[in-house]
Parts: sequence; C-alpha cells; structure tokens
Amino acid sequence: MNRKIAVIGGGAAGMTAAIAAARSGASVTVYERNDRVGKKILSTGNGKCNFSNEKMGRAYYRGSGAALVDNIYANFGVKQTVEFFRGLGMRIKSRDGYLYPASGQASTVLDVLRYELERLPVRIHTGQRIVAVDVHKCENGAVAGETAGSVACGQIVVETENHAKEKYDAVILACGGKAAPGTGSDGAGYIMAEKLGHRIVPVVPALTALRCAEDFYKRVAGVRCDAKLTLYIDGQPGRSDRGELQWTDYGISGIPVFQLSRDAAYALKDGRSVTVSIDLMPDLDREEDVTYAYAGAADDPAASARDLFWRKRWESQSWQSMDRFVTGLVNKKIGLLLLKLAGIKETEIAYNVPERNRKELTKLFRSLIVSVKGTNSFEQAQVSAGGIDCSEVTGQLESRIVPGVYFAGEILDLDGICGGYNLQWAWSSGYTAGRAAAGNPAE
Ligand SMILES: Cc1cc2nc3c(=O)[nH]c(=O)nc-3n(C[C@H](O)[C@H](O)[C@H](O)COP(=O)(O)OP(=O)(O)OC[C@H]3O[C@@H](n4cnc5c(N)ncnc54)[C@H](O)[C@@H]3O)c2cc1C
Repeated sequence: MNRKIAVIGGGAAGMTAAIAAARSGASVTVYERNDRVGKKILSTGNGKCNFSNEKMGRAYYRGSGAALVDNIYANFGVKQTVEFFRGLGMRIKSRDGYLYPASGQASTVLDVLRYELERLPVRIHTGQRIVAVDVHKCENGAVAGETAGSVACGQIVVETENHAKEKYDAVILACGGKAAPGTGSDGAGYIMAEKLGHRIVPVVPALTALRCAEDFYKRVAGVRCDAKLTLYIDGQPGRSDRGELQWTDYGISGIPVFQLSRDAAYALKDGRSVTVSIDLMPDLDREEDVTYAYAGAADDPAASARDLFWRKRWESQSWQSMDRFVTGLVNKKIGLLLLKLAGIKETEIAYNVPERNRKELTKLFRSLIVSVKGTNSFEQAQVSAGGIDCSEVTGQLESRIVPGVYFAGEILDLDGICGGYNLQWAWSSGYTAGRAAAGNPAE
C-alpha cells in the first residue's frame, strides 16, 4: 500500500520533498499556511533566484548539519538539481558558477515546481497552518500498524489551527526557519520539533547587515566600494571576505558583510565584543599599484609594496591640499571621512601633515575598525542560523527520536553562505527526506 505522507510547509524544501515522495509512489499532502506555496522563492536572488552554485561542498556550510552535506549531495547535489530543473523544462544559466533560471525570473523556479506538483498529483492545502504533530508511539512491544483506539501505533497525527486532524504514515517538517517571517517562516516548526523531543540550537539572523556604534554613518550612507572585511571577536581575527561593501545610515551591509553576519550574531548573543576591520584598498598589491610603488623606490627592498605606495604618494602629492590628496584613492566621501578620523583638516597641505597623522591615515585606509552592536532583525535576514540539532537526525534526515518524522530545509541547524547554497540545501534535503519518507531512500 502507498505510504501516506504529509509535508508541512510549501517552501523550496517542502515542494521538493513532496515531488520526490510522490515520484516514489507515495500519496502526498502539502500543508502551507500562506494562500500560495513558495512565496519566499520569489524574493530570492533579487527576484532572479540564485538557486545553486557550481562550487559546492561542506566548506560552504555552518552548523551541525554541515557534517551531512557531502553524503546527501553525493546522491542529490548540484548535478542532480540541474537535471531535476532541466527535466521540469527550465533552462539554466551560470554567471561565474552562480546558477540562475535563464529567464532571469525567480517565478520560473516556482512555476515549474508548481506544475510538477499538479502533474503528479500532490494535494496542496493552502491557508492551513499546522499547530501540532503527534506521534502514537508503539509501546509495550506493539508493532507499527497495530491499532490502539482510532490510531495505529507508529502513525502520526497532524493538527491544523482549526483543530482538524489527519493521520499519516510519515511527516516531513519543512517549515523553514525564522528569516523573512513575512513569507511565512515564523519559527513555528521549531516549536513542533521541540515538542517531539528535539533540541533546537539557538537561532540567530544570518546573511544580514550589521548595525554599528560610530556616529559617522550618515555621512557615507549610500556609498558602495570594494573592500576586504575581517571579523574580530574579543580581539581575535575570524572570517574574512571581500566584495562590494555597502554603507548604510546605521552601519555596513552588502555580501561581504552578510558572509560575516552569522558569526557576529552568535558572538553578540554570547555578550562578546565584535568589531570589523575594513581594508578599503584591498587591491593595493595589484600589479599596477606595485609598479607605481616601486618606481624610484627600489632602493628599499625591505619595505612592502603598500609602504612604498604610501611613501610615493606623500612625496608626489606633497603640494596638494589633503582633500585633493585623498581624491582618486577611494570613494571621495570615504576619503574625507578617513581624513576626519585621522584628525587632518581637508585644507591642510600634505607636506605640513605631522608624521603621526600621516601614519594614522594610511593605517585607516588599510584597517578602519568599526564596532558592531547588533545585526539586523530576522525580518531583514536572508536566512536563520541554528535550528534542529542535526546529531538527532539520520543521514536520510529522519528523526532519531521519533521515527517517521523527517526534516528538510532551513528548519535544520545548517546555513550556507551567500551564493545559492541555502536553496541548494533546500532542494537536496527536500529530495532526500521525500524519497526516504516514501520508503525509497537513496543508497
Ligand atoms: C530576500 C531573500 C533572498 C534570498 N536569496 C537567496 C538566493 O538567491 N539563493 C539562495 O540559495 N538562498 C536565498 N535565500 C535563502 C532561501 O530562500 C531559503 O534558505 C530557502 O527558501 C529555505 O527554504 P525552506 O523551504 O526550508 O523554507 P521556506 O522557504 O521559509 O518555506 C517554509 C514554508 O513553510 C510554511 N510554514 C511555516 N510554518 C508553517 C506551519 N506551521 N504550517 C504550514 N506551513 C508553514 C511557510 O509559510 C513557508 O512557505 C534568500 C532568502 C531571502 C529572505
């Protein structure tokens, strides 16, 4: 007899799980609290949906689930995901290894998933919020399937907020995390998992902007510039990332900031001090700058290219006022800010600037330190870090505590960096849990 399966949550992971389970012959029902499935997918990748990445593997993930990634992806990784979507009729384009639907529309990804759900068919109950999952344990030596009252032992009962109850052979919890709750994922899945006996690793916003303490942000809000950022926790260097830094009126944002944000969030939660060092001229070691730096200065082999660059700058621009001295190095607003922080007047002539202030200015270009006092909230985060402790699930994503209950997607304690990694986890974990719940696990 076909297994009867409920999928709770019609997001990326839930829809993939439902397709995998139905393709394996199960009778599948998806419960989605919104009036339609896949709302979050529409806002991914700025509406273009960066659904995967050609560079993939455990190294791009954090959390207890990272240990599961390589095995799960060996069965359903990037290659199988590309085949899966191509099989649904979606053309794919790669931008430097970042994968998108060729249409340039996130809605394509959602559409092809919806059409497949319809074709199989999978029952979709929208506007149905699940509030409880109860498992009728097989006690006193009873074998799964034996009837005790109206529910066979081993069966799982799913209850909606209107108190409607339905029995299933297996349930897949794919309710997402807490990020972007406007799309439906408000953390309800953690509460249900906790009631089933699972441990929830503390949940924090990740892939989000950092709110900082300095009073200068309004002066530079709106500026975007190339920078290399290094996170410091209690003074110790941590992760580093380079890319387009975006200055906001409350702090720093942009992809390199997102990549550091989950570590910052956990450190702040633990009451630790968090700073970010910003190198505003990360390409100073480029060939053209090195050539410029070494011209006429090759007599000092011990000095770094950076030192020589600055030495030459101070020599060649010595007759300039300092606002002109910083022009052409970085964005003008940033250059003027650094002057102020170094205690140098814009009208000062370069050769009059004392050595102490010169050193301070060149130091600031290399390492402007900002103090982080918080992250943006879950509302503005792309994902949440934390969730169901993955040491309590099997390699097929079945609960070790309550057999018959499976998990998929962001509800698990695993988060990827920016670049298609979180959706890849949703597809891979969804497909794995769906097949296994249907009794057709991958080898
Ligand atoms: C703005 C934004 C941009 C992003 N861009 C990218 C990107 O380009 N690439 C990338 O890889 N990742 C991106 N992400 C992250 C990615 O979208 C998520 O990690 C992924 O969608 C998680 O999938 P999920 O199915 O686990 O959870 P979700 O997509 O959150 O789906 C969970 C579903 O469960 C439903 N639900 C919750 N509780 C209940 C309940 N009690 N009963 C019934 N239904 C319930 C919700 O309504 C929701 O539809 C982005 C996220 C955001 C917010």
